[in-house]
Amino acid sequence: MNLEAKMNCPNCNKNISVLIKEMIPGRRKRCSSCNADIKFSGDDGRRAQKALDDFEKSLKNMFK
Ligand SMILES: [Zn+2]
Repeated sequence: MNLEAKMNCPNCNKNISVLIKEMIPGRRKRCSSCNADIKFSGDDGRRAQKALDDFEKSLKNMFK
């Protein structure tokens, strides 16, 4: 499953989508717009977890 979360590039501020499984603190991703190296922090990990929780909630609502 390829769940994506949105985040802003700290360099160019463009909204980019990141696979949640890639949002591991300490890992890096290259911005698709400005090619800056984005390093994920613990905050990003929490945001990824929240996106997962929201996704699970929406799934449960779908099958009510
Ligand atoms: Zn950028």
